[in-house]
Amino acid sequence: MPIRPENRRRYPVNWIAISTGIKDRAGWRCECSGECGRGTHEGRCPNVHGGWAYGTGSRVILTTAHLDHVPENCDPANLRAMCQGCHLHYDREHHAETRARRKHAAAQRG
Ligand SMILES: [Zn+2]
Ligand SMILES: [Zn+2]
Repeated sequence: MPIRPENRRRYPVNWIAISTGIKDRAGWRCECSGECGRGTHEGRCPNVHGGWAYGTGSRVILTTAHLDHVPENCDPANLRAMCQGCHLHYDREHHAETRARRKHAAAQRG
């Protein structure tokens, strides 16, 4: 997913290099082995960067996901190369939580 403006400063300045390193490690193929929970692939996801995403007419864009959703935690063990489909699905629950928290905070402010 695109980096939110308010989160951009939480990423290290060499994020692009780190992220590229993770994709190199993955051989530019999605590293998701079902963590995304969408259930569209058995074992490792077959999507390769720049190839056609299975089941859709769109090109695969490989992204780098933080398993714990903390942008500062750039330990390679916390990072996974994921196609946009897996990444979106993986982050979906987390996004819903974040939205709920923001709504709540806004309500608190009145
Ligand atoms: Zn994938
Ligand atoms: Zn997946």
